[in-house]
Amino acid sequence: MKIVMLGAPGAGKGTQAIKIAEKYNIPHISTGDIFRANLKAGTELGLKAKVYMDQGLLVPDELTTGLVVDRIQQEDCKNGYVLDGFPRTIPQAECLTAALNDLNDALDFALNIDVPDENIVNRMSGRRACPKCGATYHIAYAAPKKEGICDSCGETLIQRDDDKPETVQKRLDVYHAQTQPLIDYYENEGILKNVDGTKNLDEVFAQIIEVLEA
Ligand code: AMP
Repeated sequence: MKIVMLGAPGAGKGTQAIKIAEKYNIPHISTGDIFRANLKAGTELGLKAKVYMDQGLLVPDELTTGLVVDRIQQEDCKNGYVLDGFPRTIPQAECLTAALNDLNDALDFALNIDVPDENIVNRMSGRRACPKCGATYHIAYAAPKKEGICDSCGETLIQRDDDKPETVQKRLDVYHAQTQPLIDYYENEGILKNVDGTKNLDEVFAQIIEVLEA
């Protein structure tokens, strides 16, 4: 099953992508996680990406597309994958379609997790992340067992720079300008499925399973 996740930043697509990946035993490929891992490792890619990420801007396509196209051709992707945070622009989507065409392959689903803007800012300001293992939480909707501490590894949780209020509005503007057009793109490809992302985590996941197994 080859899936791309669509939705505004903070719509919950990362959380749902992880659950889908676990259920179907396929890799979860998050470009945001790849950039953050590179930054932590101090690679050139990580340092370049940081300049854009910290401003709520998109990392240029030329730094992004190639790494995803390489990643989806690795052995563990042969039964499918969930792409989370990619594509984020029409050129990225076109490159992905072309690369898959060359491999005689195609995506199965584009899942759009639909959440209105007014819910997003509130959600993102409550988001917390583990700087060590990358797990994410929400102080109201998906709180860790012990406040401020990662359930998985015990590290102190932080608010990511790009989840700070001043950056959130910028990310939403970028989403509307550059990423939202992908909804029409995948509608035209005939693989778009909309899911109501305002429901709680388990309800959203139940809707997703219904769509994937219909
Ligand atoms: P995310 O964790 O998916 O919200 O991504 C965090 C940040 O990484 C984004 O705000 C962008 O700066 C960058 N990023 C992640 N995926 C992409 C992509 N497909 N294209 C460009 N920039 C990206």
